[in-house]
Amino acid sequence: MEYTSLNELRTVIENCRLCKRLVHYRESVEPKPQYEGQTYWRRPVAGFGDPESTIFILALAPAAHGGNRTGRAFTGDKSGDFLFNSLYKAGLSNQATSVSRDDGLILKGCYITAAVKCAPPRDRPTAQECHTCSPYWENELHLLKKVKSVICLGTFAFNAFLTYARKQGISTKGLRFKHGASYHLPGLATLYASYHPSPHNTNTGRLTEEMLIRLFLQVSQAL
Ligand code: SF4
Repeated sequence: MEYTSLNELRTVIENCRLCKRLVHYRESVEPKPQYEGQTYWRRPVAGFGDPESTIFILALAPAAHGGNRTGRAFTGDKSGDFLFNSLYKAGLSNQATSVSRDDGLILKGCYITAAVKCAPPRDRPTAQECHTCSPYWENELHLLKKVKSVICLGTFAFNAFLTYARKQGISTKGLRFKHGASYHLPGLATLYASYHPSPHNTNTGRLTEEMLIRLFLQVSQAL
C-alpha cells in the first residue's frame, strides 16, 4: 500500500504489531539501571528528517535502549551520539546531539530511518521480519521525492537496499559492501556504503569520525 504523506505513514508504522517476536521483545525489554524510572517508547520507530531530503540514510533497526526507549531513530544511544556528531560537523543537522524526540534537533537535507522499525533481540531481525517491515522504509523513500543519494549504514541495510533495487528491476550484480563504496543505480539513486556507527566499529577504530564526516561531505558535494 502507498501512503500519501509521511505523517500518515508514521501513524501506521507506530501502531504496527505484525511481528509477534519483535512486539514481545520491544514491550518486555528490561530498562537499563541508568534509565530506571523512564517510560520506554516500546513501539515501532519511524524515520525522521527533512521532508525535502536529497539524502536518505538507512540503518538496521532501533536499539533496545536507544530508539526503543526514546521513540526516535538513533536517539539516546552511543551509535546516535557518534552519528549525529558527524552529521553536524558535515553541515547536515543543527546540533551535534540527539537525546529525545523534543530536543530541537533538525536534520538538513537528510532523512534517517531503519530497515526494521522495531528493536530486535541481539540486534538481529530475521529475514522474515525484514521482509515484513520493508514496505515501510520503501514507502518513506517513495514519499521523499527529491532523494538522490542513499547511504546504507552497515551490511544489513546495504543488503536490504539491494533487495529493493532488484524489486525495481535494477541489476545489483557485482555490488559489494565496502565502506566508502558508491554505486550509481540508474533511475533510483546513488548508493553509498558505510560501516555502521555502532560502538563495535567506533571503539575499535574501524569507523572513525573523520571517515564518516568525509563520506557525508562526499555525498553532499556530489549532489
Ligand atoms: S518490525 Fe516492522 S512490520 Fe514488524 S511489528 Fe515492527 S513495524 Fe511492524
